[in-house]
Amino acid sequence: MNAIDLRKVTGTARLQALRIVLIGPPGAGKGTQASVLRERYGLAHISTGDMLREEVRRETALGLQARSLMAAGQLVPDTLILDMMSQRLQQPDVARGFLLDGFPRSRAQGQALVATLGQLKQPLHAVIQLDLEDEEIVRRLSLRRSCPSCGRVYHLQTNPPTLHGLCDSDGAALQHREDDNEQTIRTRLSVFHQQTRPVIEFFRSLGLLRTLDASLPIEHVQHLVERHLRAAMVRNSPLSTSRRFAVTRYRSLGKVSR
Ligand SMILES: [Zn+2]
Repeated sequence: MNAIDLRKVTGTARLQALRIVLIGPPGAGKGTQASVLRERYGLAHISTGDMLREEVRRETALGLQARSLMAAGQLVPDTLILDMMSQRLQQPDVARGFLLDGFPRSRAQGQALVATLGQLKQPLHAVIQLDLEDEEIVRRLSLRRSCPSCGRVYHLQTNPPTLHGLCDSDGAALQHREDDNEQTIRTRLSVFHQQTRPVIEFFRSLGLLRTLDASLPIEHVQHLVERHLRAAMVRNSPLSTSRRFAVTRYRSLGKVSR
């Protein structure tokens, strides 16, 4: 193996599957970053809500179990969600990796997720936290307007419609969602912080957490996310270990000069 072959080995690190958790309050631009990552890396976007609905619709064994619990007014337990996720992670569309959004929501879920991924030999590369001050979230969300007909979302300050109050795509009158008023936003935020703080601490303790300032322009945040992911992939790659081994070995044989 010569130096050129070694470059090939490190090059393949970019082709390995990428596994990420995205955490952030409403209004921090999570949806935007998620769709960029999905496209760029071909990741499967896994939302536990969608996954649950799909299992129930297909009437799988786990789906039926969940349905009977929900019909009885009970919460679907973490173990059931994790079982669904284990199956989901073995589907062909997850070959290039996944992006988890809205899960885990508690420390227990976080621990269970890490254990499940460990069993599947698919450890996480990174947990990206999009951080934004509450005041800024309130400002962003209270100026948000959405189209009741096509679902397109506008922002009166940063992304206004061409014609005041009307959707650019279909001309429908834009609406201010009931849950986008200030009091509701503040309540949602306090629930969000309470729930996610322990999850964030847990991932920090594992050295997986990267907190990014979501008040920066979208492209800038995107750049930071990518830079971090590239670093995390090389660091966590089993190939980086074999490369180090190869370099050491060939250096000792006098075939690699530095
Ligand atoms: Zn519309």
